[in-house]
Amino acid sequence: MADNFQIEQNLKQVLLTIRELEKKYKRPNNSVHLLAVSKTKPIEDIIAAHAYGQISFGENYVQEAVEKINALKNNFDETNKIEWHFIGPLQKNKTRLIAENFDWMHSVDRYIIAQRLSEQRPKDLPPLQVCIQVNIDQEESKSGVAVDKIQHLAEDLVDLKCLKLRGLMAIPKISSDTTQQRKSFAALREQLEQLNQQGFELDTLSMGMSADLEAAIAEGATIVRIGTAIFGKRD
Ligand SMILES: *Cc1c(COP(=O)(O)O)cnc(C)c1O
Repeated sequence: MADNFQIEQNLKQVLLTIRELEKKYKRPNNSVHLLAVSKTKPIEDIIAAHAYGQISFGENYVQEAVEKINALKNNFDETNKIEWHFIGPLQKNKTRLIAENFDWMHSVDRYIIAQRLSEQRPKDLPPLQVCIQVNIDQEESKSGVAVDKIQHLAEDLVDLKCLKLRGLMAIPKISSDTTQQRKSFAALREQLEQLNQQGFELDTLSMGMSADLEAAIAEGATIVRIGTAIFGKRD
């Protein structure tokens, strides 16, 4: 566990960096939303970040996430509630936990998952906000749909009543070369633009982590998913 002061300092720094990068790349102010990725970190760390004003948190592992969500359920009032985003791979038999506990799901890559999420979404909750995860660098071991399958999946998803398709998400091939990083992110942005030319109205590009934040913002990220730079290294 990082101490609270450290988390506060880190969060402040990450937010400052995001605002500076928006200026540098001529993005509108506040057009990049920070998702704090708290996977493997204790709820005390989430509470510390929340106390500093962070509202959106991202988790990768269903069981761990639901435990945290339940533990924090009564900590904050309605106006100050945490917005929970699921960003990890998901098995078919775990969809109900996501449908019932999350606000966003970034990693939809199969119709069957989407269909189950929509069916299992409680009717008293707003639609689950979803992104299609794209295997943008066509890596064999990566989850995500192939680029040539995006449109077909998107067309199927918009018919699901309890989901709201918001955009695309990707985890590019690891590279320390910013030119390569930007190439992958630009490719995802172009896919979103193409969908919108086909009549979709998508507003979300979920891309960029601690090590490739700048490239992602340069290429149009609207949600950056940051863990290490806020909460420190994971064990
Ligand atoms: C862990 C994770 C992140 C955060 O990565 P950091 O390098 O710690 O910022 C972002 N997105 C996904 C999908 C992750 O699994």
